[in-house]
Amino acid sequence: MSVCCSLCRKPAAVRLLHARMHLCAKHFEEYFERRVLWTIKGMRMLEQGERVAVAVSGGKDSLTLLFLLSKCSHYLGVELVALLIDEGIRGYRELKVEAARRYVKEWGVELKEVSFKERFGFTLDEAVEVLVKGSMKYKPCTVCGVLRRYLLNEAALELGADKLATAHNLDDEVQVFMMNVLQSNLVALAREGASARRTHEKLVPRVKPLYFVLEREVMAYALLHGIETPDVECPYIVYSTRHLIRRWLNRVAQEDARMKHRVLAFKSIVVKGVEPEEEFGTCKVCGMPSAGEVCRACQLREYLDGLLQLHPL
Ligand code: SF4
Ligand code: ZN
Repeated sequence: MSVCCSLCRKPAAVRLLHARMHLCAKHFEEYFERRVLWTIKGMRMLEQGERVAVAVSGGKDSLTLLFLLSKCSHYLGVELVALLIDEGIRGYRELKVEAARRYVKEWGVELKEVSFKERFGFTLDEAVEVLVKGSMKYKPCTVCGVLRRYLLNEAALELGADKLATAHNLDDEVQVFMMNVLQSNLVALAREGASARRTHEKLVPRVKPLYFVLEREVMAYALLHGIETPDVECPYIVYSTRHLIRRWLNRVAQEDARMKHRVLAFKSIVVKGVEPEEEFGTCKVCGMPSAGEVCRACQLREYLDGLLQLHPL
């Protein structure tokens, strides 16, 4: 016997385990959109008249975010521009980039593309090649994450964006929370919230409209709207500690469907006692925001440039 929607008698399309509900396509769409818009409005993430750069990677999360924001841009009164960073990961990123270009065009959103190669002089693949020769002082995801964040901010500034929207969902937040707990990094833990304030004139404030929705809910929404992207995985995921944590959390969530929501609620209690972040300083190399004298991106670039001179590609 087919299961019915908990709100009407239509066949259920999605099962919300944490809420012990089944929803038909229409009611799931309403639930999902209401939750995201409540996050945006309730947390004052976006204001009328703002120009919003939306980070798109070509994955389902970021395409779903762009789709939903473009659907609601009139209601929210914001202007969107999609921002795509190509790290240069062969067999992976070019396929995602292709999907992103297709959807951005279909939805009529302006697109800005920026690549590691053009801005830093090397692709992530090339950086990993020399990192291996230099005994892997940094993991690929560290290089990728630091440099991508740097470029997202730099490009958002160039675009004159008031906000930078990223597609981090509830699962992402819980994974990062667990990573910070394992590293006993309370400051980093407090820094990761649904939105950040402007702590430097060159730092575009980030917002995460999908903060309160699960990855599987984003996947379901994408599926219902025919948002498809190549099913490929980054080859460097094997080096990622976060990937291990993700798998472990998903296993635990099979037994305890509300666990991730509880962890996120617990996080908000933990960070209450932490001092708010101080204003950022300015990197003496590039002039961008930095916690220390030299920003992490410039430190990494200096290290990688040194390795590239020792081990030319
Ligand atoms: Fe970058 Fe790591 Fe994600 Fe690959 S898995 S895209 S290297 S952060
Ligand atoms: Zn710098």
